[in-house]
Amino acid sequence: MSRQDPDCIFCKIVSGQIPASVVYRNDQVMAFRDLNPVAPTHILIIPLEHITSLSDLSPEDEPIAGQILLAARTVAEKAGVLESGYRLVFNNGRDALQSVGHIHAHLIGGKGMGWPPFAGQSVGHG
Ligand code: 5GP
Ligand code: ZN
Repeated sequence: MSRQDPDCIFCKIVSGQIPASVVYRNDQVMAFRDLNPVAPTHILIIPLEHITSLSDLSPEDEPIAGQILLAARTVAEKAGVLESGYRLVFNNGRDALQSVGHIHAHLIGGKGMGWPPFAGQSVGHG
């Protein structure tokens, strides 16, 4: 595995240094339950390689990007929300409140949701 950041909490979950409730794993991505779930189903899907954000993806990462989406479908089925519906959220950068600098998709489901997602508090930009 080429890219790893020894200071990254999600890289530590990949390596097993930090325990997690793993839902799915293959040779490119893994999925585990969020420590602070915002819904009955809240699972994070990450690449095994350290890539900071969507903005850092390059064309050669296309297989990883595809694997994240395919894993989402698998995870949704495992979690029992394939039929009821679910949301896949990538917080990317400051305005989107990305707090962990390792790409992760939030798979959220198990309850009805609102739209738009910024209906709550907003931060910055007046
Ligand atoms: P972000 O705010 O970057 O989009 O999402 C980061 C997510 O990672 C948050 O929902 C937070 O609860 C979750 N998280 C942070 N640290 C850990 C951890 O050590 N284990 C797990 N399972 N989730 C974590
Ligand atoms: Zn990382």
